[in-house]
Amino acid sequence: MDIKKVIVVTGASRGIGAATALLAAARGYAVCVNYLKNRAAADVVVAEIEAKGGQAIAVAADVSSEHEVVSLFEAVDRQLGTLTALVNNAGVLETQMRVDQMDAARLNRVLTANVTSCFLCAREAVRRMSSKFGGSGGAIVNVSSAASRLGSAGEYVDYAASKGAVDTLTIGLAREVATEGIRVNAVRPGFIYTDIHASGGEPGRVDRVKEFVPMKRGGRPEEVAAAILWLLSDEASYATGTFIDLAGGR
Ligand code: NAP
Repeated sequence: MDIKKVIVVTGASRGIGAATALLAAARGYAVCVNYLKNRAAADVVVAEIEAKGGQAIAVAADVSSEHEVVSLFEAVDRQLGTLTALVNNAGVLETQMRVDQMDAARLNRVLTANVTSCFLCAREAVRRMSSKFGGSGGAIVNVSSAASRLGSAGEYVDYAASKGAVDTLTIGLAREVATEGIRVNAVRPGFIYTDIHASGGEPGRVDRVKEFVPMKRGGRPEEVAAAILWLLSDEASYATGTFIDLAGGR
């Protein structure tokens, strides 16, 4: 009998997370669609999965809050079963500005939302999946950004630096759990058509900057989701601590 595959996708009510949740369901995962505020959007993702015969639940949790992360994973234990995969996708950016304009409150918000969240969710996943704790193994994919390589000068160096930390988490955690049945990898998307650019103050950003991309276009959330699902799959069985850049050649 096949082992049931259970996945948590953080920030799955829209954008890259929603595309990942839908593709994971199509690949046979029971899916926890985590979201922060937008219950209606999360419910749409769940309904779409159920309409195709899949299993999904929507769970609200601020993944930068330790007790909410603990509750999120407990809900998955109760409602879906033994966790086998985590996608650390939830992430935020704030209004475009230079480093000389940034205050500590903003820096702490960005780092907590993008870095602390990944550590906390990875911790809960490792406690469930690692052979060290009696688990049967699994895989984690962190959603970093091309910004970690490029720095986002003049826009959001804080965001780029937070993704640098996600890259380092990916390498360090991968090595830490490499003999415990868990692989840890990351994707680094470039300019992808989602709502995140509106929070930076420029909803049309992808169309403005796509000329700087060698392929001369922005990416689609589904193109990122495909790489995430490959990294989670057995086809990537010897890949850990590594990155897939999805940035059209940038
Ligand atoms: P998005 O469209 O803005 O969606 C963000 C998602 O994260 C939403 O589901 C939101 O929930 C959720 N979320 C935000 N803060 C959260 C928190 N504290 N706890 C739980 N959920 C939270 O974003 P996206 O563009 O798809 O980005 C997804 C990931 O890809 C992020 O890590 C981002 O940095 C990365 N990325 C994106 C791009 C790009 O061009 N779009 C490029 C590189 C990397 P609600 O709907 O409830 O608010």
